[in-house]
Amino acid sequence: MATIRNGNILTKNLGIDMNLVFRGATLFDGTGEERRERTDVAVEDGTIQAVGADLPAPSDATVVDADGLGLMPGIIDSHTHYDAQITWDPFLTPSPSLGVTTAVIGNCGFTIAPCRDEDRDLVMRNLTQVEGMSLEVLRDGIEWDFESFPDYLDAIERRGVAANVAAFIGHSALRTYVMGGDAVERAATADEVATMADLVRAAMRAGAIGFATSTAPQHNGWGGVPMPSRLADDAELYALTGAMADEGRGIFMLTKGNRTDVPYLEKMAAEVGRPIMIAALLHNPTNPTGTFGELEQIAAARARGHELWGQVSCCPLTMDFTLASAYPFEGFKAWSPAMKVSGDALKQMLADPGFRQTVKDELEQPAGVRLFNGEWHKIVLTEVAEEKNRSLEHRSVADLSAEAGRHPFDWMLDFAVSEDLRTLFTAVLLNSDEDAVGRMIRDPNASVALSDAGAHLTFFCDAGFGLHLMGHWSRTLGTLTLEQAVHELTAKPAGIFRLPGRGRIAPGYAADLVLFDPARVDRGPKRRVRDLPTGAARLTTDAVGLHGVWVNGVPVVDRDGTMQRDERPGRLLRRFDA
Ligand SMILES: [Zn+2]
Repeated sequence: MATIRNGNILTKNLGIDMNLVFRGATLFDGTGEERRERTDVAVEDGTIQAVGADLPAPSDATVVDADGLGLMPGIIDSHTHYDAQITWDPFLTPSPSLGVTTAVIGNCGFTIAPCRDEDRDLVMRNLTQVEGMSLEVLRDGIEWDFESFPDYLDAIERRGVAANVAAFIGHSALRTYVMGGDAVERAATADEVATMADLVRAAMRAGAIGFATSTAPQHNGWGGVPMPSRLADDAELYALTGAMADEGRGIFMLTKGNRTDVPYLEKMAAEVGRPIMIAALLHNPTNPTGTFGELEQIAAARARGHELWGQVSCCPLTMDFTLASAYPFEGFKAWSPAMKVSGDALKQMLADPGFRQTVKDELEQPAGVRLFNGEWHKIVLTEVAEEKNRSLEHRSVADLSAEAGRHPFDWMLDFAVSEDLRTLFTAVLLNSDEDAVGRMIRDPNASVALSDAGAHLTFFCDAGFGLHLMGHWSRTLGTLTLEQAVHELTAKPAGIFRLPGRGRIAPGYAADLVLFDPARVDRGPKRRVRDLPTGAARLTTDAVGLHGVWVNGVPVVDRDGTMQRDERPGRLLRRFDA
Protein backbone atom coordinates (compact mmCIF):
# COMPACT_ATOMS: atom_id res chain seq x y z
CA MET A 1 0.00 0.00 0.00
CA ALA A 2 1.43 3.35 -1.04
CA THR A 3 0.57 6.36 1.02
CA ILE A 4 0.41 9.99 -0.03
CA ARG A 5 0.28 12.31 2.96
CA ASN A 6 -1.23 15.73 2.54
CA GLY A 7 -0.88 15.22 -1.18
CA ASN A 8 2.78 14.39 -0.62
CA ILE A 9 3.83 11.20 -2.37
CA LEU A 10 5.71 8.90 0.02
CA THR A 11 5.73 5.90 -2.26
CA LYS A 12 4.84 6.11 -5.87
CA ASN A 13 3.19 3.22 -7.60
CA LEU A 14 4.46 2.78 -11.11
CA GLY A 15 1.84 2.69 -13.80
CA ILE A 16 -1.80 3.48 -13.41
CA ASP A 17 -3.16 3.33 -9.88
CA MET A 18 -6.08 0.95 -10.17
CA ASN A 19 -7.17 1.64 -6.62
CA LEU A 20 -7.01 4.88 -4.77
CA VAL A 21 -8.46 5.92 -1.42
CA PHE A 22 -8.66 9.50 -0.13
CA ARG A 23 -8.77 9.63 3.67
CA GLY A 24 -10.34 12.34 5.79
CA ALA A 25 -11.09 14.90 3.10
CA THR A 26 -13.40 17.88 3.43
CA LEU A 27 -15.70 16.97 0.59
CA PHE A 28 -17.09 19.49 -1.88
CA ASP A 29 -19.09 17.11 -4.03
CA GLY A 30 -19.96 19.54 -6.85
CA THR A 31 -23.71 19.71 -6.18
CA GLY A 32 -23.42 22.90 -4.13
CA GLU A 33 -24.52 21.02 -0.98
CA GLU A 34 -22.72 21.88 2.22
CA ARG A 35 -19.21 20.46 2.61
CA ARG A 36 -18.79 17.18 4.50
CA GLU A 37 -15.85 16.91 6.90
CA ARG A 38 -13.70 13.80 7.36
CA THR A 39 -14.97 11.93 4.34
CA ASP A 40 -13.26 9.10 2.46
CA VAL A 41 -13.50 8.58 -1.27
CA ALA A 42 -12.61 5.24 -2.87
CA VAL A 43 -11.65 4.97 -6.53
CA GLU A 44 -11.27 1.86 -8.64
CA ASP A 45 -10.22 1.76 -12.24
CA GLY A 46 -10.76 5.50 -12.71
CA THR A 47 -14.27 5.50 -11.30
CA ILE A 48 -15.48 6.58 -7.86
CA GLN A 49 -16.75 3.48 -6.04
CA ALA A 50 -17.72 4.76 -2.64
CA VAL A 51 -17.99 7.96 -0.59
CA GLY A 52 -18.30 7.76 3.19
CA ALA A 53 -16.57 7.46 6.54
CA ASP A 54 -13.78 4.92 7.22
CA LEU A 55 -13.87 3.11 3.89
CA PRO A 56 -11.71 0.00 3.69
CA ALA A 57 -8.59 0.29 1.53
CA PRO A 58 -7.61 -2.74 -0.54
CA SER A 59 -4.02 -3.83 0.05
CA ASP A 60 -2.91 -2.70 -3.42
CA ALA A 61 -4.47 0.75 -3.07
CA THR A 62 -2.66 4.07 -3.01
CA VAL A 63 -3.92 5.95 0.04
CA VAL A 64 -3.97 9.73 -0.03
CA ASP A 65 -4.15 11.16 3.47
CA ALA A 66 -6.17 14.30 2.69
CA ASP A 67 -5.94 15.35 6.32
CA GLY A 68 -8.71 17.92 6.17
CA LEU A 69 -7.85 19.33 2.74
CA GLY A 70 -10.71 20.02 0.36
CA LEU A 71 -11.52 17.43 -2.30
CA MET A 72 -13.62 18.53 -5.25
CA PRO A 73 -14.43 17.32 -8.75
CA GLY A 74 -11.98 18.57 -11.40
CA ILE A 75 -12.73 21.91 -13.00
CA ILE A 76 -14.54 21.86 -16.36
CA ASP A 77 -13.24 24.67 -18.58
CA SER A 78 -15.89 25.03 -21.26
CA HIS A 79 -14.25 27.87 -23.21
CA THR A 80 -10.75 27.00 -24.39
CA HIS A 81 -8.85 27.22 -27.68
CA TYR A 82 -6.43 24.30 -27.37
CA ASP A 83 -7.31 23.11 -30.90
CA ALA A 84 -3.82 23.80 -32.27
CA GLN A 85 -1.75 23.36 -29.09
CA ILE A 86 -3.21 19.92 -28.36
CA THR A 87 -1.41 18.58 -31.45
CA TRP A 88 2.03 19.38 -29.99
CA ASP A 89 1.23 19.56 -26.28
CA PRO A 90 -1.02 16.72 -25.09
CA PHE A 91 -0.65 18.11 -21.55
CA LEU A 92 -2.69 21.22 -22.37
CA THR A 93 -0.23 23.34 -20.44
CA PRO A 94 -1.03 24.97 -18.08
CA SER A 95 -4.69 24.03 -17.48
CA PRO A 96 -4.36 20.74 -15.52
CA SER A 97 -1.88 22.35 -13.12
CA LEU A 98 -4.63 24.92 -12.43
CA GLY A 99 -7.19 22.23 -11.53
CA VAL A 100 -8.80 21.73 -14.93
CA THR A 101 -9.61 18.10 -15.75
CA THR A 102 -11.93 18.66 -18.72
CA ALA A 103 -11.45 21.23 -21.49
CA VAL A 104 -13.88 22.04 -24.28
CA ILE A 105 -12.11 23.13 -27.47
CA GLY A 106 -13.30 24.66 -30.73
CA ASN A 107 -15.02 27.63 -29.14
CA CYS A 108 -16.14 30.49 -31.38
CA GLY A 109 -15.74 28.07 -34.30
CA PHE A 110 -11.99 28.65 -34.62
CA THR A 111 -11.01 25.03 -35.16
CA ILE A 112 -8.25 23.59 -37.32
CA ALA A 113 -10.42 20.77 -38.69
CA PRO A 114 -11.65 20.10 -41.21
CA CYS A 115 -8.75 21.47 -43.24
CA ARG A 116 -7.26 20.58 -46.63
CA ASP A 117 -3.49 20.68 -47.15
CA GLU A 118 -3.72 23.78 -49.32
CA ASP A 119 -5.72 25.74 -46.72
CA ARG A 120 -3.45 25.09 -43.76
CA ASP A 121 -1.52 28.31 -44.07
CA LEU A 122 -4.71 30.37 -44.36
CA VAL A 123 -6.20 28.69 -41.28
CA MET A 124 -3.00 29.32 -39.31
CA ARG A 125 -2.81 32.95 -40.43
CA ASN A 126 -6.40 33.50 -39.33
CA LEU A 127 -5.70 32.00 -35.89
CA THR A 128 -2.67 34.25 -35.60
CA GLN A 129 -4.87 37.27 -35.90
CA VAL A 130 -8.06 36.24 -34.13
CA GLU A 131 -6.57 34.26 -31.26
CA GLY A 132 -3.25 36.02 -30.86
CA MET A 133 -1.13 32.98 -31.65
CA SER A 134 2.26 33.38 -33.27
CA LEU A 135 2.38 32.21 -36.90
CA GLU A 136 5.88 30.79 -36.41
CA VAL A 137 4.67 28.80 -33.39
CA LEU A 138 1.70 27.40 -35.32
CA ARG A 139 3.80 26.54 -38.40
CA ASP A 140 6.41 24.85 -36.27
CA GLY A 141 4.05 23.26 -33.79
CA ILE A 142 0.89 21.93 -35.44
CA GLU A 143 0.97 18.24 -36.27
CA TRP A 144 -1.21 18.06 -39.40
CA ASP A 145 -2.07 14.36 -39.29
CA PHE A 146 -5.74 14.77 -40.22
CA GLU A 147 -7.99 16.40 -42.77
CA SER A 148 -11.60 15.76 -41.73
CA PHE A 149 -13.05 16.55 -38.32
CA PRO A 150 -13.53 12.84 -37.45
CA ASP A 151 -9.83 12.28 -38.40
CA TYR A 152 -8.88 15.13 -36.08
CA LEU A 153 -10.72 13.50 -33.15
CA ASP A 154 -9.02 10.19 -33.91
CA ALA A 155 -5.62 11.91 -33.98
CA ILE A 156 -6.19 13.43 -30.52
CA GLU A 157 -7.18 10.03 -29.22
CA ARG A 158 -4.14 8.36 -30.80
CA ARG A 159 -1.68 10.81 -29.24
CA GLY A 160 -3.42 10.73 -25.87
CA VAL A 161 -4.13 13.74 -23.68
CA ALA A 162 -3.60 14.59 -20.02
CA ALA A 163 -7.10 16.00 -19.40
CA ASN A 164 -10.48 15.05 -20.85
CA VAL A 165 -11.34 16.93 -24.02
CA ALA A 166 -14.59 17.61 -25.85
CA ALA A 167 -14.56 19.37 -29.21
CA PHE A 168 -16.95 21.60 -31.09
CA ILE A 169 -17.12 21.41 -34.87
CA GLY A 170 -16.14 24.97 -35.80
CA HIS A 171 -17.91 27.12 -38.32
CA SER A 172 -14.94 29.10 -39.67
CA ALA A 173 -12.90 25.99 -40.45
CA LEU A 174 -15.93 24.32 -42.00
CA ARG A 175 -16.64 27.32 -44.21
CA THR A 176 -13.03 27.51 -45.43
CA TYR A 177 -13.08 23.76 -46.14
CA VAL A 178 -16.19 24.05 -48.32
CA MET A 179 -15.74 27.52 -49.86
CA GLY A 180 -11.96 28.00 -49.95
CA GLY A 181 -10.89 31.66 -50.22
CA ASP A 182 -14.50 32.70 -50.87
CA ALA A 183 -15.28 31.92 -47.21
CA VAL A 184 -14.25 35.45 -46.27
CA GLU A 185 -15.88 37.07 -49.31
CA ARG A 186 -19.53 36.16 -49.56
CA ALA A 187 -22.64 34.32 -48.42
CA ALA A 188 -22.73 30.58 -49.15
CA THR A 189 -24.85 29.10 -51.96
CA ALA A 190 -27.59 26.63 -51.13
CA ASP A 191 -25.32 23.80 -52.33
CA GLU A 192 -22.45 24.94 -50.12
CA VAL A 193 -24.77 25.21 -47.13
CA ALA A 194 -26.02 21.66 -47.80
CA THR A 195 -22.42 20.38 -47.94
CA MET A 196 -21.56 22.13 -44.67
CA ALA A 197 -24.71 20.72 -43.03
CA ASP A 198 -23.70 17.18 -44.07
CA LEU A 199 -20.27 17.73 -42.52
CA VAL A 200 -21.85 19.00 -39.27
CA ARG A 201 -23.98 15.84 -39.10
CA ALA A 202 -20.91 13.67 -39.71
CA ALA A 203 -18.97 15.55 -37.01
CA MET A 204 -21.81 15.06 -34.53
CA ARG A 205 -21.91 11.34 -35.30
CA ALA A 206 -18.14 11.19 -34.75
CA GLY A 207 -18.50 12.79 -31.30
CA ALA A 208 -18.54 16.59 -31.53
CA ILE A 209 -20.08 18.22 -28.46
CA GLY A 210 -21.90 20.72 -30.65
CA PHE A 211 -21.46 23.43 -33.23
CA ALA A 212 -19.63 26.72 -32.55
CA THR A 213 -19.48 30.02 -34.39
CA SER A 214 -18.76 33.72 -34.00
CA THR A 215 -20.51 36.78 -35.34
CA ALA A 216 -18.41 39.17 -33.22
CA PRO A 217 -16.91 42.25 -34.89
CA GLN A 218 -13.58 41.91 -33.08
CA HIS A 219 -13.04 38.48 -34.66
CA ASN A 220 -10.85 39.26 -37.65
CA GLY A 221 -8.58 37.00 -39.63
CA TRP A 222 -5.31 37.68 -41.41
CA GLY A 223 -5.05 41.19 -42.85
CA GLY A 224 -8.10 42.32 -40.89
CA VAL A 225 -10.70 40.52 -43.01
CA PRO A 226 -13.68 39.17 -41.04
CA MET A 227 -13.40 35.56 -39.85
CA PRO A 228 -15.37 33.31 -42.26
CA SER A 229 -18.31 32.67 -39.92
CA ARG A 230 -19.09 36.38 -39.85
CA LEU A 231 -20.15 36.16 -43.51
CA ALA A 232 -22.88 33.59 -42.82
CA ASP A 233 -26.47 34.65 -43.41
CA ASP A 234 -29.51 33.52 -41.43
CA ALA A 235 -30.24 30.61 -43.77
CA GLU A 236 -26.75 29.22 -43.21
CA LEU A 237 -26.85 29.63 -39.41
CA TYR A 238 -30.24 27.92 -39.22
CA ALA A 239 -29.20 25.11 -41.53
CA LEU A 240 -26.04 24.31 -39.56
CA THR A 241 -27.57 24.49 -36.09
CA GLY A 242 -30.44 22.42 -37.46
CA ALA A 243 -27.97 19.83 -38.79
CA MET A 244 -26.41 19.62 -35.33
CA ALA A 245 -29.85 19.10 -33.80
CA ASP A 246 -30.67 16.35 -36.34
CA GLU A 247 -28.48 14.04 -34.30
CA GLY A 248 -30.75 14.61 -31.28
CA ARG A 249 -28.19 16.38 -29.16
CA GLY A 250 -25.51 19.08 -29.15
CA ILE A 251 -25.07 22.58 -27.84
CA PHE A 252 -24.81 25.61 -30.11
CA MET A 253 -22.08 27.97 -28.92
CA LEU A 254 -21.52 31.41 -30.32
CA THR A 255 -19.66 34.58 -29.58
CA LYS A 256 -22.30 37.01 -30.57
CA GLY A 257 -22.16 40.27 -32.43
CA ASN A 258 -24.71 43.03 -32.78
CA ARG A 259 -26.97 41.22 -35.24
CA THR A 260 -27.36 37.99 -33.27
CA ASP A 261 -28.90 39.52 -30.15
CA VAL A 262 -30.69 37.50 -27.48
CA PRO A 263 -34.18 37.69 -29.08
CA TYR A 264 -32.65 36.44 -32.35
CA LEU A 265 -31.03 33.54 -30.51
CA GLU A 266 -34.20 32.73 -28.59
CA LYS A 267 -36.01 32.32 -31.91
CA MET A 268 -33.26 30.01 -33.05
CA ALA A 269 -33.38 27.95 -29.83
CA ALA A 270 -37.15 27.60 -30.30
CA GLU A 271 -36.65 26.42 -33.87
CA VAL A 272 -33.82 23.91 -33.34
CA GLY A 273 -34.77 22.82 -29.81
CA ARG A 274 -31.20 22.77 -28.51
CA PRO A 275 -29.43 24.81 -25.79
CA ILE A 276 -27.45 27.87 -26.87
CA MET A 277 -24.38 29.11 -25.02
CA ILE A 278 -24.01 32.84 -25.60
CA ALA A 279 -20.54 34.36 -25.24
CA ALA A 280 -19.06 36.69 -24.27
CA LEU A 281 -21.01 38.60 -21.64
CA LEU A 282 -18.36 40.93 -20.25
CA HIS A 283 -19.24 43.99 -18.23
CA ASN A 284 -18.53 47.20 -20.12
CA PRO A 285 -18.32 50.32 -17.92
CA THR A 286 -19.23 52.57 -20.86
CA ASN A 287 -22.46 50.55 -21.33
CA PRO A 288 -22.96 49.43 -17.72
CA THR A 289 -26.47 48.02 -18.04
CA GLY A 290 -25.88 46.17 -21.33
CA THR A 291 -24.99 42.74 -19.99
CA PHE A 292 -27.70 42.89 -17.32
CA GLY A 293 -30.27 43.62 -20.00
CA GLU A 294 -29.04 40.55 -21.87
CA LEU A 295 -29.16 38.38 -18.76
CA GLU A 296 -32.77 39.53 -18.22
CA GLN A 297 -33.64 38.61 -21.80
CA ILE A 298 -32.03 35.21 -21.24
CA ALA A 299 -34.03 34.70 -18.04
CA ALA A 300 -37.26 35.58 -19.87
CA ALA A 301 -36.38 33.19 -22.72
CA ARG A 302 -35.77 30.38 -20.24
CA ALA A 303 -39.10 31.08 -18.54
CA ARG A 304 -40.63 30.47 -21.98
CA GLY A 305 -38.88 27.11 -22.15
CA HIS A 306 -35.91 28.06 -24.37
CA GLU A 307 -32.58 27.01 -22.96
CA LEU A 308 -30.18 29.92 -23.33
CA TRP A 309 -27.09 30.45 -21.17
CA GLY A 310 -24.97 33.56 -20.82
CA GLN A 311 -21.25 32.84 -20.67
CA VAL A 312 -19.59 35.23 -18.21
CA SER A 313 -16.08 35.64 -16.84
CA CYS A 314 -14.85 36.09 -13.28
CA CYS A 315 -11.59 37.67 -14.50
CA PRO A 316 -11.05 41.27 -15.55
CA LEU A 317 -10.21 41.25 -19.26
CA THR A 318 -6.64 42.45 -19.11
CA MET A 319 -4.36 42.35 -22.13
CA ASP A 320 -0.65 42.88 -22.63
CA PHE A 321 0.02 44.16 -26.15
CA THR A 322 2.32 46.20 -28.35
CA LEU A 323 1.24 48.50 -31.15
CA ALA A 324 2.72 45.95 -33.58
CA SER A 325 -0.34 43.77 -32.81
CA ALA A 326 -2.84 45.91 -30.96
CA TYR A 327 -5.73 43.50 -30.32
CA PRO A 328 -7.71 46.03 -28.23
CA PHE A 329 -8.05 48.32 -31.28
CA GLU A 330 -8.77 45.62 -33.85
CA GLY A 331 -12.55 45.81 -33.42
CA PHE A 332 -12.48 49.34 -34.88
CA LYS A 333 -13.32 49.58 -38.56
CA ALA A 334 -10.89 52.47 -38.79
CA TRP A 335 -8.08 50.26 -37.49
CA SER A 336 -8.38 47.66 -40.25
CA PRO A 337 -5.80 49.28 -42.61
CA ALA A 338 -3.27 48.86 -39.78
CA MET A 339 -3.83 45.09 -39.81
CA LYS A 340 -2.77 44.85 -43.45
CA VAL A 341 0.74 46.26 -42.92
CA SER A 342 3.70 45.72 -40.63
CA GLY A 343 7.17 47.10 -39.90
CA ASP A 344 7.98 50.51 -41.36
CA ALA A 345 4.70 50.72 -43.27
CA LEU A 346 2.81 50.21 -40.00
CA LYS A 347 4.90 52.83 -38.22
CA GLN A 348 4.18 55.26 -41.04
CA MET A 349 0.47 54.60 -40.81
CA LEU A 350 0.40 55.01 -37.02
CA ALA A 351 2.17 58.35 -37.40
CA ASP A 352 -0.31 59.59 -40.01
CA PRO A 353 -2.71 62.26 -38.64
CA GLY A 354 -5.43 61.24 -41.12
CA PHE A 355 -5.39 57.62 -39.94
CA ARG A 356 -5.42 58.75 -36.32
CA GLN A 357 -8.40 61.02 -36.91
CA THR A 358 -10.54 58.19 -38.35
CA VAL A 359 -9.87 56.07 -35.25
CA LYS A 360 -10.56 59.00 -32.93
CA ASP A 361 -13.82 59.71 -34.77
CA GLU A 362 -14.92 56.10 -34.41
CA LEU A 363 -14.02 56.16 -30.72
CA GLU A 364 -16.51 59.00 -30.28
CA GLN A 365 -19.32 56.76 -31.58
CA PRO A 366 -20.80 54.56 -28.84
CA ALA A 367 -20.82 50.83 -29.69
CA GLY A 368 -22.68 47.96 -28.08
CA VAL A 369 -19.90 45.43 -28.52
CA ARG A 370 -16.37 46.81 -28.40
CA LEU A 371 -13.27 45.94 -26.41
CA PHE A 372 -11.84 49.42 -25.91
CA ASN A 373 -13.99 52.46 -25.22
CA GLY A 374 -11.60 55.32 -24.65
CA GLU A 375 -10.75 54.70 -21.01
CA TRP A 376 -7.17 55.85 -21.31
CA HIS A 377 -6.57 55.62 -17.56
CA LYS A 378 -6.93 51.85 -17.98
CA ILE A 379 -4.04 51.55 -20.44
CA VAL A 380 -0.74 51.38 -18.59
CA LEU A 381 2.87 51.29 -19.81
CA THR A 382 4.02 47.91 -18.55
CA GLU A 383 7.46 47.67 -20.12
CA VAL A 384 9.32 50.32 -22.10
CA ALA A 385 11.86 49.31 -24.76
CA GLU A 386 14.41 52.02 -24.05
CA GLU A 387 16.23 52.52 -20.78
CA LYS A 388 15.80 56.31 -20.84
CA ASN A 389 12.01 55.83 -20.62
CA ARG A 390 12.14 53.50 -17.62
CA SER A 391 10.64 56.06 -15.21
CA LEU A 392 7.40 56.06 -17.24
CA GLU A 393 6.64 52.40 -16.52
CA HIS A 394 3.45 51.57 -14.63
CA ARG A 395 1.92 54.96 -15.45
CA SER A 396 -1.28 55.34 -17.44
CA VAL A 397 -1.63 56.75 -20.93
CA ALA A 398 -4.21 59.18 -19.50
CA ASP A 399 -1.68 60.65 -17.03
CA LEU A 400 1.26 60.73 -19.38
CA SER A 401 -0.69 62.33 -22.23
CA ALA A 402 -2.24 64.93 -19.90
CA GLU A 403 1.24 65.87 -18.71
CA ALA A 404 2.36 66.26 -22.30
CA GLY A 405 -0.78 68.19 -23.24
CA ARG A 406 -1.62 65.71 -26.04
CA HIS A 407 -4.62 63.60 -27.02
CA PRO A 408 -4.02 60.21 -25.36
CA PHE A 409 -4.18 58.35 -28.68
CA ASP A 410 -1.62 60.69 -30.28
CA TRP A 411 0.65 60.43 -27.27
CA MET A 412 0.44 56.63 -27.20
CA LEU A 413 1.14 56.19 -30.91
CA ASP A 414 3.98 58.71 -30.92
CA PHE A 415 5.58 57.01 -27.96
CA ALA A 416 5.19 53.52 -29.42
CA VAL A 417 6.62 54.61 -32.79
CA SER A 418 9.57 56.24 -31.00
CA GLU A 419 10.28 52.86 -29.41
CA ASP A 420 9.96 50.95 -32.68
CA LEU A 421 6.56 49.53 -31.56
CA ARG A 422 8.27 47.50 -28.85
CA THR A 423 6.58 49.23 -25.87
CA LEU A 424 4.47 46.76 -23.91
CA PHE A 425 1.13 48.19 -22.78
CA THR A 426 -1.42 46.58 -20.49
CA ALA A 427 -5.09 47.40 -20.91
CA VAL A 428 -7.81 46.56 -18.42
CA LEU A 429 -10.53 46.40 -21.01
CA LEU A 430 -13.72 45.02 -19.55
CA ASN A 431 -15.12 43.21 -16.54
CA SER A 432 -13.22 45.13 -13.88
CA ASP A 433 -16.18 46.57 -11.91
CA GLU A 434 -16.41 44.04 -9.07
CA ASP A 435 -19.97 44.90 -8.01
CA ALA A 436 -21.20 44.35 -11.53
CA VAL A 437 -19.12 41.22 -12.15
CA GLY A 438 -20.24 39.82 -8.80
CA ARG A 439 -23.86 40.19 -9.86
CA MET A 440 -23.13 38.53 -13.19
CA ILE A 441 -21.38 35.47 -11.77
CA ARG A 442 -24.23 34.92 -9.30
CA ASP A 443 -26.85 35.02 -12.07
CA PRO A 444 -28.54 31.59 -12.25
CA ASN A 445 -28.63 31.76 -16.07
CA ALA A 446 -24.96 32.56 -16.39
CA SER A 447 -22.09 30.10 -16.70
CA VAL A 448 -18.64 31.16 -15.50
CA ALA A 449 -16.00 30.35 -18.13
CA LEU A 450 -14.25 32.34 -20.88
CA SER A 451 -10.67 31.48 -19.94
CA ASP A 452 -9.72 31.41 -23.65
CA ALA A 453 -6.93 29.05 -22.55
CA GLY A 454 -4.70 28.10 -25.45
CA ALA A 455 -5.20 31.49 -27.15
CA HIS A 456 -4.02 35.07 -26.72
CA LEU A 457 -0.88 33.56 -25.19
CA THR A 458 1.10 36.78 -24.97
CA PHE A 459 -1.91 38.94 -24.07
CA PHE A 460 -3.24 37.27 -20.91
CA CYS A 461 -3.64 33.93 -19.12
CA ASP A 462 -6.96 33.14 -17.45
CA ALA A 463 -6.52 29.35 -17.49
CA GLY A 464 -6.65 29.61 -13.67
CA PHE A 465 -10.12 31.21 -13.71
CA GLY A 466 -11.50 28.43 -11.51
CA LEU A 467 -8.95 28.98 -8.75
CA HIS A 468 -9.63 32.72 -9.05
CA LEU A 469 -13.35 32.09 -8.55
CA MET A 470 -12.61 30.04 -5.43
CA GLY A 471 -9.90 32.30 -3.98
CA HIS A 472 -10.82 35.82 -4.94
CA TRP A 473 -14.59 35.69 -5.36
CA SER A 474 -15.43 33.14 -2.71
CA ARG A 475 -12.83 33.37 0.05
CA THR A 476 -11.78 37.03 -0.25
CA LEU A 477 -14.99 38.74 -1.37
CA GLY A 478 -17.62 36.24 -0.19
CA THR A 479 -19.62 36.69 -3.41
CA LEU A 480 -20.26 32.94 -3.52
CA THR A 481 -19.84 30.25 -0.90
CA LEU A 482 -17.03 27.85 -1.68
CA GLU A 483 -19.65 25.16 -2.22
CA GLN A 484 -21.36 27.37 -4.83
CA ALA A 485 -18.06 28.24 -6.50
CA VAL A 486 -17.17 24.54 -6.81
CA HIS A 487 -20.64 23.81 -8.22
CA GLU A 488 -20.22 26.59 -10.78
CA LEU A 489 -16.99 24.95 -11.99
CA THR A 490 -18.08 21.31 -11.97
CA ALA A 491 -21.60 19.85 -11.84
CA LYS A 492 -23.19 22.93 -13.39
CA PRO A 493 -21.14 22.96 -16.61
CA ALA A 494 -21.35 19.15 -16.71
CA GLY A 495 -25.13 19.57 -16.84
CA ILE A 496 -25.14 22.40 -19.37
CA PHE A 497 -22.74 20.55 -21.68
CA ARG A 498 -24.41 17.17 -21.12
CA LEU A 499 -21.24 15.44 -19.90
CA PRO A 500 -22.33 12.10 -18.47
CA GLY A 501 -20.64 10.88 -15.30
CA ARG A 502 -18.49 13.95 -14.64
CA GLY A 503 -18.58 17.01 -12.39
CA ARG A 504 -19.59 15.29 -9.13
CA ILE A 505 -18.01 13.19 -6.42
CA ALA A 506 -20.44 10.30 -6.13
CA PRO A 507 -20.31 6.56 -6.84
CA GLY A 508 -20.24 5.86 -10.56
CA TYR A 509 -18.69 9.21 -11.48
CA ALA A 510 -15.27 9.55 -13.10
CA ALA A 511 -12.45 10.16 -10.61
CA ASP A 512 -11.54 13.64 -11.90
CA LEU A 513 -10.43 15.14 -8.60
CA VAL A 514 -8.69 18.17 -7.16
CA LEU A 515 -7.16 18.24 -3.67
CA PHE A 516 -6.79 21.78 -2.33
CA ASP A 517 -6.44 23.93 0.74
CA PRO A 518 -9.64 25.98 1.19
CA ALA A 519 -7.73 28.55 3.26
CA ARG A 520 -5.18 29.25 0.51
CA VAL A 521 -6.51 28.19 -2.88
CA ASP A 522 -5.99 30.88 -5.54
CA ARG A 523 -4.16 31.62 -8.76
CA GLY A 524 -0.76 33.23 -8.55
CA PRO A 525 0.44 36.30 -10.45
CA LYS A 526 1.08 36.11 -14.18
CA ARG A 527 4.59 35.50 -15.42
CA ARG A 528 6.24 35.04 -18.78
CA VAL A 529 7.80 31.73 -19.86
CA ARG A 530 9.40 30.67 -23.13
CA ASP A 531 8.38 27.09 -23.74
CA LEU A 532 6.34 27.25 -26.94
CA PRO A 533 7.62 25.67 -30.16
CA THR A 534 10.45 27.93 -31.50
CA GLY A 535 11.00 29.16 -27.92
CA ALA A 536 8.29 31.80 -28.17
CA ALA A 537 6.94 33.38 -24.99
CA ARG A 538 3.58 32.97 -23.34
CA LEU A 539 2.02 34.19 -20.12
CA THR A 540 1.18 31.69 -17.40
CA THR A 541 0.09 31.60 -13.79
CA ASP A 542 0.78 29.08 -11.04
CA ALA A 543 -1.70 27.53 -8.67
CA VAL A 544 -1.69 28.45 -5.00
CA GLY A 545 -2.93 25.97 -2.40
CA LEU A 546 -3.35 23.06 -4.80
CA HIS A 547 -2.25 19.64 -3.48
CA GLY A 548 -2.85 17.37 -6.43
CA VAL A 549 -4.98 16.75 -9.52
CA TRP A 550 -6.25 13.38 -10.78
CA VAL A 551 -7.83 12.64 -14.16
CA ASN A 552 -9.79 9.38 -14.38
CA GLY A 553 -8.09 8.29 -11.16
CA VAL A 554 -4.53 8.94 -12.41
CA PRO A 555 -2.39 11.68 -10.84
CA VAL A 556 -1.48 14.36 -13.40
CA VAL A 557 -0.24 17.10 -11.06
CA ASP A 558 1.54 16.56 -7.74
CA ARG A 559 1.49 18.77 -4.68
CA ASP A 560 4.17 21.18 -5.92
CA GLY A 561 2.12 21.75 -9.04
CA THR A 562 4.47 19.71 -11.19
CA MET A 563 2.77 18.09 -14.14
CA GLN A 564 3.31 14.34 -14.46
CA ARG A 565 4.59 13.84 -17.99
CA ASP A 566 4.51 10.07 -18.10
CA GLU A 567 0.75 9.54 -18.22
CA ARG A 568 -2.00 10.77 -20.50
CA PRO A 569 -5.11 9.58 -18.68
CA GLY A 570 -7.58 12.02 -20.28
CA ARG A 571 -10.32 10.79 -22.60
CA LEU A 572 -11.56 12.28 -25.78
CA LEU A 573 -15.24 12.64 -24.84
CA ARG A 574 -17.52 11.52 -27.67
CA ARG A 575 -20.71 10.50 -25.88
CA PHE A 576 -22.98 13.14 -24.43
CA ASP A 577 -26.46 13.19 -22.97
CA ALA A 578 -29.31 14.52 -25.05
ZN1 LIG B 1 -12.86 32.35 -27.39
